[in-house]
Amino acid sequence: MTQRLTVLGSTGSIGRQSLEVIAALGLSVEGLTAHKNAKLLEEQARAVHPKLAVLTDEAAAKDLAVRLADTSTRVLGGKEALLEAAILPEADTVLTSVVGIAGLEPTLAAIDAGKNIALANKETLVCAGALVTAAAENKGVKLLPVDSEHSAIFQCLQGCRDRGEVERLILTASGGPFYGLEREKIAQMTCREALKHPNWDMGAKITIDSATMMNKGFEVIEAMWLYGLPLERIDVVIHRQSVIHSLVEFRDGAVLAQLGAPDMRLPIQYAFTWPNRLSGPCSRLDLLHCADLTFLPPDGENFPCLELARDAAAQGGVKAAALNGANEVAVAAYLSDKIGFYDIPRLCRLAVDAAPVVETPTLDDILAADALARAVAQKNL
Ligand code: NDP
Ligand code: MG
Repeated sequence: MTQRLTVLGSTGSIGRQSLEVIAALGLSVEGLTAHKNAKLLEEQARAVHPKLAVLTDEAAAKDLAVRLADTSTRVLGGKEALLEAAILPEADTVLTSVVGIAGLEPTLAAIDAGKNIALANKETLVCAGALVTAAAENKGVKLLPVDSEHSAIFQCLQGCRDRGEVERLILTASGGPFYGLEREKIAQMTCREALKHPNWDMGAKITIDSATMMNKGFEVIEAMWLYGLPLERIDVVIHRQSVIHSLVEFRDGAVLAQLGAPDMRLPIQYAFTWPNRLSGPCSRLDLLHCADLTFLPPDGENFPCLELARDAAAQGGVKAAALNGANEVAVAAYLSDKIGFYDIPRLCRLAVDAAPVVETPTLDDILAADALARAVAQKNL
């Protein structure tokens, strides 16, 4: 079980909830990082006394250094400093709750330094699943899932001694705020409507990814790398209530599911306490007050991003990294009202098609594919 943590992206939705879990469990924090939220990072540093606090934005880091001048916390700024936080010697586990491909290099650095990874940043596996899983295996470190679906699967697999017994993974998806609407209506939806997620309170980027179903596409890829199953054995079912967090079907037909209140602190906590379970701050599930549990097929017509992600993953190489890069640009543009909802899959498709075929990509190949995809998306906004 984790004792000493570094939290990358501590000011975000996952980062803030992780600090509640850390406080409840009495774990210690070695490093905290964020992009530019100096005010919140100051508050967090005063509460948990990390050795190092990093802001990747240099100007914000200068502000933070002034704010924390009376404490023993060292403050650094810039992208390189994020790598330094990822390898702080005293930490046994690094929680990767940075958003986007910005999480990739620090995750690789942390693995290389022998840290277990509590993995929230799914973009890391989408872009570089082969590299990251191979590095973790080489170093003998764990990739402990924080994403609720992957944590559910991880929990269902605890009693499983032979992975060959697993027939199929079933990821549940809430469907987001637009599931069930007509395509013409969805096409008009702005980011303000898309940001109203029915069940989860998350960062803006993943909330848009949930509305487009790109999030579920990314999660299929994440599951493929974490659990070593081919894409065709990873299914998605729309389950509007987000009570069943995912399921595993075994070869004898048995299906195990993990249920719980929609509260990310549970999967965060399990990543820290595995293989144990401790009492903590998480909400309890009250079955008698749950709405009816329903299951529906995904709507590939109105939400093409799920298939787009499956297709990019099936093509392999750097295609999924291209998908992610274009999606980051497209989501940022949608969040600033520059493009419409269906421009997101359009830009992603263009970038996947434009990405080169690379058999066994290196980190440089992946970063180059990301840069090319961003340029393609930007040019076609
Ligand atoms: P948020 O947007 O809420 O938080 C992102 C964090 O990363 C903030 O601390 C932010 O700092 C920091 N950050 C942003 N950009 C950069 C950058 N370029 N370099 C370094 N740090 C940066 O995101 P979430 O917490 O919602 O999501 C984090 C990750 O977890 C994502 O990969 C997401 O897919 C995954 N995840 C999230 C879930 C959720 O419930 N939120 C559920 C499952 C997975 P600052 O505040 O200063 O901008
Ligand atoms: Mg999820």
